[in-house]
Amino acid sequence: MSIARFWRETPRRYNLGGSKCSICSTVYFPPRSVCPTCTHHRRSIGKMQPLQLCGEGEVFSFSILQDAAEGFEMQVPYVLALVKTVEGPMLTGQIVDVDPAEVEIGMPVHAMFRKLREEGRAGVIHYGYKFAPSTAEDRRPRRGGSNEPSPVTEPPEGSRAPA
Ligand SMILES: [Zn+2]
Repeated sequence: MSIARFWRETPRRYNLGGSKCSICSTVYFPPRSVCPTCTHHRRSIGKMQPLQLCGEGEVFSFSILQDAAEGFEMQVPYVLALVKTVEGPMLTGQIVDVDPAEVEIGMPVHAMFRKLREEGRAGVIHYGYKFAPSTAEDRRPRRGGSNEPSPVTEPPEGSRAPA
């Protein structure tokens, strides 16, 4: 299965795997095997449960950047934000599908998987999460995948990552 096919067919939430401490209920992303919040860390060993972040959150802070990092395929200016997820962990990511001037603190957003960059010679394509503004429609529980947005860009044939 190609990488492109994989991302298309995998619900985006599957890709935000974190963990939750079953003692104090703190959620971590990326996942942790020991809870640093619990007073006695060792108590949390074996009590960390996998938890998929739903990808919904809100803009906690953001910067509008005028210079694209080399190798990254972004149009400038672009917005880099710290997003507070509904589960608690903070994620850093680009805000897309919105005029940078319209981004504001507290704006509801949701994670989506997008092409981040492509390495020239190897043609290796990296995917990661970005965030887009959520509408009321987005925030309703989803049924099926019919309204799942497809990635804006997909790898051209022949530039697949090694298996
Ligand atoms: Zn804990």
